Amino acid sequence: MSPLFARYCFSHYCTTVTMVPSSSYASAVRFVLVVLLSRAFLALASPTPVAASGSGTIGAVDAERDETAVDRVKRELDARAPLAQLFSSCENSKQVALTFDDGPYAWSTEVSDFLTEVGGRGTFCYNGNNWACIYDAESQARVKYAVARGHQVVSHTWRHLDLTQLSFDRIHDEMWRVEQALERIVGLAPAFMRPPYGSYNNLVRQVSYQRNQSMILWDLDTGDSLGKSVSYSEQQYYDAINQNRENILALNHETYQSTVEQVLPYAIKLLQSKNYQLVTVAECLNMAPYQWTTTPQMPSSSWTC
Ligand SMILES: [Zn+2]
Repeated sequence: MSPLFARYCFSHYCTTVTMVPSSSYASAVRFVLVVLLSRAFLALASPTPVAASGSGTIGAVDAERDETAVDRVKRELDARAPLAQLFSSCENSKQVALTFDDGPYAWSTEVSDFLTEVGGRGTFCYNGNNWACIYDAESQARVKYAVARGHQVVSHTWRHLDLTQLSFDRIHDEMWRVEQALERIVGLAPAFMRPPYGSYNNLVRQVSYQRNQSMILWDLDTGDSLGKSVSYSEQQYYDAINQNRENILALNHETYQSTVEQVLPYAIKLLQSKNYQLVTVAECLNMAPYQWTTTPQMPSSSWTC
């Protein structure tokens, strides 16, 4: 005779009880007792049934399960989405790319002049609405001044927010607004962006990729935006040269007068004494600085921050 199986479940736990029928009276009693005890146990342990109507609790549980599945698929797709290239260093030997973030601002033209006077070029990572609005007449003039002298223009996004805290749409928005401003003012579509605070994640890289932009960081930080002294900033350049660095991608901020009027002349003099070429980020990476160029537009009332 085949054995009998009794399977009991509650919550996520199930158990199977094997019963071997016997002609004996004792076996029959044991069988009945096990069944009764199991039913009593289940009655005590089972959760209270939830009503299917009204609040729709059961439907919500199903929805949650579905949402988890959707999230999982989305995560797997995201993991396969292409990421923007990320550069922290130059590639060419004996080249230095001096970058200046957070403008256009008060000392922008001075930076441009210091570099131009020694036959060098630099890179400006512009915001749209940070220390000043890029559509202010003075800001527009500063952007045009830098571009006219061959310096590179890079997107540093619109408001200088930490992009890792933003949604996909808002990251696009932060990038798009400053790109629109640069296209309007100087007719340029930047091929590079620098994330504010150097803060990024895969979502930021995905959005940058979709906007055809490579991302740049740095391998020398003057520390000016961190409140470091002029001597600290100068020491960073001195140490890098003392180490015979093959190339340098340096982070400076054009929004500090001491950076522009003290650190920059010191760095230029030191770098040139060691025969480093002062070039743009695009040049030191052998890449194009812009996706395309077009004719700048005439200012209009829609140009606002
Ligand atoms: Zn910045």
